[in-house]
Amino acid sequence: MSFLARRRTKKRLATLLTRSIFLTIAVLSLVVVLQNYQVNRQVVSQEVARSKLQTQSLVQQILNFRLEALEIQQDSYSRNGSLVDAFIAKDTNRLARFFNGIDQATPELAPDFRFITEQSQIVWDDANYQFYGLSMGQLSHISQDMTTGGSWHLSQTPSLLGTRYLMVRRVPIVNMASGEVLGYLHIAVVLNNNFSLMSAVLRGSNADQVLLAVGSEVIASSTKDIDLSHIEWLEESAVDFTVSQYMVSKTDLTISDVPTFLSIYTIQDNKPIVIMVRSHYMWVAVAVVLLFLIAVYGRLWLGKRVSKELVKLMKYTESSVETKGMTRFLGSHIEEFDQIGSSFELSFQRFHEQEKQFADLFNFSLSPMTLWNAQGQLLRSNPAAERSFLVNNESENGDYHLLIEKLGPHIRLCAKGAALKGINISIRDKTYRWNLSPIFIDKGVNNVLAQGQDVTSFVEAEVQSLAARREAEETAKARSEFLAKMSHELRTPLNGILGVSQLLKGKLSDTQDVEHLDVLCNSGEHLLAVLNDILDFSKIEQGKFQIQSVDFRLVELVSAVEKIYTPLCEEKGISFEVFTNLSDETFAHSDQVRLNQILFNLVSNAIKFTHRGSVTVSIMCRKQPTGYYLNVGVEDTGIGIEQERITYIFEPFVQAESTTTREYGGSGLGLAIVHSLVEMLNGEIEIESTIGRGTHLQLSIPIELVESAEQVETNTLVEPASLFARPLNVLLVEDNHTNAFIAKAFCEKYGMDVIWVQDGYNAIEKLKQQNDIDLILMDNQLPNLGGIETTKIIRNDMMLDTPIFACTADGMQDTKRAFLNAGADYVIIKPIKELALNQALIHYKESHLSKNKDF
Ligand code: ADP
Repeated sequence: MSFLARRRTKKRLATLLTRSIFLTIAVLSLVVVLQNYQVNRQVVSQEVARSKLQTQSLVQQILNFRLEALEIQQDSYSRNGSLVDAFIAKDTNRLARFFNGIDQATPELAPDFRFITEQSQIVWDDANYQFYGLSMGQLSHISQDMTTGGSWHLSQTPSLLGTRYLMVRRVPIVNMASGEVLGYLHIAVVLNNNFSLMSAVLRGSNADQVLLAVGSEVIASSTKDIDLSHIEWLEESAVDFTVSQYMVSKTDLTISDVPTFLSIYTIQDNKPIVIMVRSHYMWVAVAVVLLFLIAVYGRLWLGKRVSKELVKLMKYTESSVETKGMTRFLGSHIEEFDQIGSSFELSFQRFHEQEKQFADLFNFSLSPMTLWNAQGQLLRSNPAAERSFLVNNESENGDYHLLIEKLGPHIRLCAKGAALKGINISIRDKTYRWNLSPIFIDKGVNNVLAQGQDVTSFVEAEVQSLAARREAEETAKARSEFLAKMSHELRTPLNGILGVSQLLKGKLSDTQDVEHLDVLCNSGEHLLAVLNDILDFSKIEQGKFQIQSVDFRLVELVSAVEKIYTPLCEEKGISFEVFTNLSDETFAHSDQVRLNQILFNLVSNAIKFTHRGSVTVSIMCRKQPTGYYLNVGVEDTGIGIEQERITYIFEPFVQAESTTTREYGGSGLGLAIVHSLVEMLNGEIEIESTIGRGTHLQLSIPIELVESAEQVETNTLVEPASLFARPLNVLLVEDNHTNAFIAKAFCEKYGMDVIWVQDGYNAIEKLKQQNDIDLILMDNQLPNLGGIETTKIIRNDMMLDTPIFACTADGMQDTKRAFLNAGADYVIIKPIKELALNQALIHYKESHLSKNKDF
């Protein structure tokens, strides 16, 4: 939503707010006015009804009162003695005087006319009836219709002047002395045009006008101003008092509680009420107009206030957005707006701080930072980038064009949404490593931030380190080749020394000669042991050392240690004890050779460094929750090792004292090899030692026990002369004269005919000429054509299956495997020892000659 659109919406909001207020006020006013009108109308109509009721009862009372007054007067004078006397005397003049006297005394109680009857005959009258158009006969009729008693008789009598409505009452004239009824005195009130009655009612009822009507005919009234011919308008006027000029109330008269056809209308001037109603309407109108004006004013005022504050708020946000700087919000008179403004101010403040932090990060970063658009155009770059790419002044843009050219494709790729890391770009003599991050706005990538790092020296270092690694690898290779070679070079003469010594052993008889020969043998053996240690260690270092597990009788470890070291200890004068819990029937699947090597190393060290006391060895097999373990302990009472050197004792070439080599010999590799071997066998080794008191080495190796060994080799020496039934033809391929001499001498002990050739070519030639060769003994390192290559030719090209037993001074497993892969049948490690050769030949006999009946 654009800012303008938002602004418009806010304006509408303000208007809506004020309009709703206006509407609410208007509705409220209307409700109040309506309710007021309703209440007023109800009150007035109730008041009118109440007043009408009052008037009705008043009118009835006035009439009753007037009639009662007439009755009382009539009753009183009807018993008057003068009247009785006059009546008895039939003196009409006296009668007339009597009544005149009464009427003069109380003129307001004088009836309209009187007459006296005696036995239904009118004996006297005052002749007033004639004024009302009545005749004597009509009076007689009226008298006859009347019943005795004091009640009023309402009579409707036609006359010359129209119908007359009379109220007649008769009372008996009684002779008080005799109690005799002499006649009847009648009094009559003519209702037609009875102004005095109307005046009485008018006076008593507080009405403005009074009308007496029979049905719809008005027979008397208190005024002559209004048209009395029709009284329908009176009925109509009675309905809506709010508009009518008069307020009319109708009273249906009763005489002596008997309903009559007479009605009295009282008419009151309705002007005050009409005026009151009108003024009420006027006030309501005034109130509505006032409320309207207030609402309009309120709307304008509120609208102005709200929009003023809104405009203030919007101006503040506009200025904050435009200036991009921090501006203060000066507050609003409306609390909510004030809060909104304050939160805006806080947000702007935070934005500003963040922006500043980002700007600082961008500007003060030591590594080049650049901002790009999605099309790969450079938008901004920080000072570090300028320092890096604007140094070259060849072109206006320095090296930026190179950067754009090289980084552009990556930027466009990154603009598709992928963050790219570690892009190396070389510009002139420098290399920069770039990390590209897409910047997402509204779910799309708008910009790309590229952060670079000058990695020139790092890349150089990388190149150098690569070179150094290659060099180290080369060196390691050279060392391993050197070791292989050295092993060959050292073992060959050693082969000669040990071989000749062994040959000589059986031939010498002079004791001193034998002793000298023993020294020779021992020195050779020692040299061989050191050589083997060095070779083993270098193999371990190169990771070429392998564990080869076989099934064997565990107790053989114990017997080997006992056999070898018991004589040595006896010789040294120290006691030697070996404890074990192993039975003859315990077979294990592990590397017997390496276990022996470990034991021999530890025990020989213990014996070497112990001059008195004892060496105790314990070889136990224990069951633990995780399986069986071989626990070995070698304890001596020898010279011991200093505490600070114990930590390094398993490191290669470490000896406890610098004098050790001089005194005891050794290379310092033994324990390092033991440690590596124990680790390879997943075991652990610990050492405890006290200087001058002795050393205790303990190790624990997990061991797999098996039911029985598949094959247990015996090391028994078979008598050479009796091994083969006939002399074998042996082709010996060996370039070294000493080795050839030794090998030949050993073979001849077995009665073999040895044909000696010095290289592979000659061997092949010999095999072509002679096809009765029984066995080929093939050396490894031969001039012209090597042993492995020669073997391959014999097997693959010449297709000969003559058994080939390879002899190699290179104890490496690889060489052994290469020989066997080329087609050799057996590998003998040099220097050739009598026992090893014996076993090789037994193997030869069992594998190759078993079907031949000659053997
Ligand atoms: P070395 O071939 O010199 O015997 P080792 O690695 O077998 O090499 O032994 C390293 C050194 O540890 C020895 O030179 C010796 O000083 C010390 N050492 C090893 N075993 C014992 C022991 N049982 N008693 C005293 N010193 C020992």
